Amino acid sequence: MAPQHVDVVIVGAGLSGIGAACLLQQHSPRKTFAILEAREAIGGTWDLFTYPGVRSDSDMFTLGYSFRPWTASRAIADGPVIRDYIRDTAREYGVDASIRFGHRVVSADWDGDTARWTVTASTGDGSTATFTCSWLSVCSGYYRYDAGYQPVFPGQDRFAGTLVHPQQWPEDLDWAGKRVIVIGSGATAVTLVPNLAERAAHVTMLQRTPSYILSLPRTDKLAQRLQRTLSPRLAYVLVASVIGLGLFASATPSPLYQTYRELWGFSPVVLTLIYATYAFGVLTALLLASASGTHSSAPCAPSRRRSPTSTARR
Ligand SMILES: Cc1cc2nc3c(=O)[nH]c(=O)nc-3n(C[C@H](O)[C@H](O)[C@H](O)COP(=O)(O)OP(=O)(O)OC[C@H]3O[C@@H](n4cnc5c(N)ncnc54)[C@H](O)[C@@H]3O)c2cc1C
Repeated sequence: MAPQHVDVVIVGAGLSGIGAACLLQQHSPRKTFAILEAREAIGGTWDLFTYPGVRSDSDMFTLGYSFRPWTASRAIADGPVIRDYIRDTAREYGVDASIRFGHRVVSADWDGDTARWTVTASTGDGSTATFTCSWLSVCSGYYRYDAGYQPVFPGQDRFAGTLVHPQQWPEDLDWAGKRVIVIGSGATAVTLVPNLAERAAHVTMLQRTPSYILSLPRTDKLAQRLQRTLSPRLAYVLVASVIGLGLFASATPSPLYQTYRELWGFSPVVLTLIYATYAFGVLTALLLASASGTHSSAPCAPSRRRSPTSTARR
């Protein structure tokens, strides 16, 4: 079959691929595009992972889309809620119609003479589909989808229990009353342990390197208050900026950081709060100044679908 030409091919219909398609449609409404997705579902990570308690580790105000701000009350959101957010975004912006499900990209060749990519995808029925495009955007994630990494443990063949990888969590797995060991101390283990403990007889976390955990509420009171008083878009800008600047400041050995540290021995957490408060003040002042200036602040409601014409003006 002759290759199909589109201006842009996006690989993957996860958080990134759907976001890229929506932005492309908003900013370049005349460009044609196709999203090639290996699986049969939208959502990538948030559709694939189904282990008990699966949720985001970072707050959704920074992980979510700037053009469709997160408005749910929980800043640390459950996996299915994030999956629905991605699906709803795709539907609302109409990019779901451009997804070719069951298309696993297997090669991409650049031709300098025609300045085009030739992208080949294998389809479920054993055949291939070919696309040409001027721009290739690879939003395929960072891990193997067909199998999570599982090291071979010596003596594993003698283990009589059940061995489970969270990437392929069996739907019917029953751990009630069982003694469970969770190997690892990363975000997945931290999520799994309390959820398994609700029904298991005993849960042990086996860790090589300890991780450090700061216990915070899942709801962000500041964000909720801002959302009530400001529009979701303005609240998003403020909250995302405060969190982003705070994290950046706490991780950056800036002179201010060093001074605080040396003078008062502040911990990074306290410093984050100081920077965040400072950033919040500056941003609020800037926003108030701009609101009283040239434009009236009436950002779009997140649920409103924008026509290409109106979004192109943004
Ligand atoms: C349990 C868990 C929690 C996480 N929490 C956070 C968090 O809180 N904050 C954070 O920043 N990150 C987090 N991550 C990382 C998370 O994967 C990313 O934040 C985000 O979901 C990545 O989106 P993505 O669209 O780039 O990739 P993915 O979600 O991985 O989606 C990639 C898509 O590309 C498709 N694809 C892959 N290869 C091909 C191919 N060859 N052809 C066609 N399609 C292909 C896949 O099927 C998939 O649909 C988490 C990851 C996990 C597993």
